[in-house]
Amino acid sequence: MGKVTGFKEFERLSEGYLPVKERVQNYKEFVLHLSDDDAKEQGARCMDCGIPFCTSGCPVNNIIPDFNDLVYNQDWKQAIDVLHSTNNFPEFTGRICPAPCEAACTLNINDDAVGIKSIEHAIIDKAWENDWVTPLINLNKTGKTIAIVGSGPAGLAAAQQLARAGHAVTVLEKNDRIGGLLRYGIPDFKMEKSHIDRRMIQMEAEGVIFKTNQYVGDNVSADDVLKDFDAVVLAGGAEHPRDLPVTGRELDGVHFAMDFLAPNNKAVAGDVVADQIKATGKHVIVIGGGDTGSDCVGTSNRHGAASITQFELMPQPAVEENRALTWPNWPLKMRTSSSHEEGAERDWSVGTKALIGEDGKVVALQGIRLEWKGREMAEVPGSEFTIKADLVLLAMGFVSPIQNVLDAFGVEKDGRGNVKATTDSEGCYFTSKDKVFAAGDMRRGQSLVVWAIREGRQCAKAVDEYLMGSSVLPR
Ligand SMILES: Cc1cc2nc3c(=O)[nH]c(=O)nc-3n(C[C@H](O)[C@H](O)[C@H](O)COP(=O)(O)OP(=O)(O)OC[C@H]3O[C@@H](n4cnc5c(N)ncnc54)[C@H](O)[C@@H]3O)c2cc1C
Ligand code: SF4
Repeated sequence: MGKVTGFKEFERLSEGYLPVKERVQNYKEFVLHLSDDDAKEQGARCMDCGIPFCTSGCPVNNIIPDFNDLVYNQDWKQAIDVLHSTNNFPEFTGRICPAPCEAACTLNINDDAVGIKSIEHAIIDKAWENDWVTPLINLNKTGKTIAIVGSGPAGLAAAQQLARAGHAVTVLEKNDRIGGLLRYGIPDFKMEKSHIDRRMIQMEAEGVIFKTNQYVGDNVSADDVLKDFDAVVLAGGAEHPRDLPVTGRELDGVHFAMDFLAPNNKAVAGDVVADQIKATGKHVIVIGGGDTGSDCVGTSNRHGAASITQFELMPQPAVEENRALTWPNWPLKMRTSSSHEEGAERDWSVGTKALIGEDGKVVALQGIRLEWKGREMAEVPGSEFTIKADLVLLAMGFVSPIQNVLDAFGVEKDGRGNVKATTDSEGCYFTSKDKVFAAGDMRRGQSLVVWAIREGRQCAKAVDEYLMGSSVLPR
């Protein structure tokens, strides 16, 4: 432990943001990582509490007190080694993880949590700046071949771990670029795509082969994949969006969030995108209050929308959680993202009755206020309202993976249409089909990047054990 009295001496310091006026002019990242001196002080706030709940709050079980101490002592090189021992891609999580570790921090019981995510961010950025992130090449090849279907964080983590175990790994991706939702979901202003590109260079040096435009179950047959590889990992995410079955859903100007976000990321990458949906000059309504909705807000602001309103079905949560009740778990509380800070009206307990059109184009949304009693919701009589809308973005979550690849492999599904596979250590990540495994959102349903990395890592160990009889990969 760095400084015994650190948590008493130093306040939590959040990372700086570029001013709104400046950052909405472009799609560049705007979070400024901590200086060395600030990171040292923030590391000193870790109080060596004895039972680091943060580590169990973190889905990849980052060894947080150790890297806090190393940063306090400015031993950045060892800090990145500790961080990489549990997390393949801290530059992703250091930017876009919601940081459940901080909710679980012991200091968070009655004070501000240690700024764990900002310390993680500072460590990995320094590691890249100093060329400490190099390929870890295993020269002892096993001769085993593995296909990873899908190149999101789950597929990438599984691929990297398996290549480091000496296997020949091929990643098959249906899109034209690698990265899954990191590439074509999460906007560049939250995470620039160069972070994926440089990891790909590292992974290619480690032996991973990336193949794009390979739609398994469509232009690539599942039978061929089964024939050509010794094991297969299904890591195709949960891409089937939840729809809004109301009158007017078919109107021009009503779109799924991903039909708005993914082409925007392509355009930012320099592609010419035909018929891109733009929010410029429009009154935008975002339906759904989660991450995807927030990304629609940030993107609409960058397009120059006339107004942005975000509706959420659930009631407005409390600003402060009751920590005595919630700690060390992830609390339900009011969260305001950097995109919200850039400008948007938010309203809760609102249902959508209908979308109103003129000449086939949406012009307004008819909503109604809702009253929640526990889990029961009722419409408030007489509370109908109409709001102008030129663009309606549906961001109400994702219900399941796209089913065709699951059907092509003939794997058993759970009740929600995900691939059925347990995470218990006995038979973990195995599907009902011999030599086929599943990880990430395709197995657990819509989740987080850090959970996808965890599942990719754990699944890699299960595959390695299946192929070799035992594994030295960490679980
Ligand atoms: C807009 C948006 C914003 C988000 N923001 C955050 C955030 O800030 N923080 C956070 O932690 N999480 C966030 N998430 C959630 C997070 O992105 C996902 O939980 C995570 O990416 C899941 O990883 P995955 O590898 O399982 O799947 P994905 O990232 O979905 O990747 C799956 C890949 O598989 C490919 N694929 C699918 N089927 C096939 C097939 N048959 N053949 C070949 N390839 C296939 C897909 O094209 C895709 O590239 C966000 C999600 C969305 C939609
Ligand atoms: S990966 Fe997420 S939960 Fe884990 S230490 Fe980093 S910010 Fe916290």
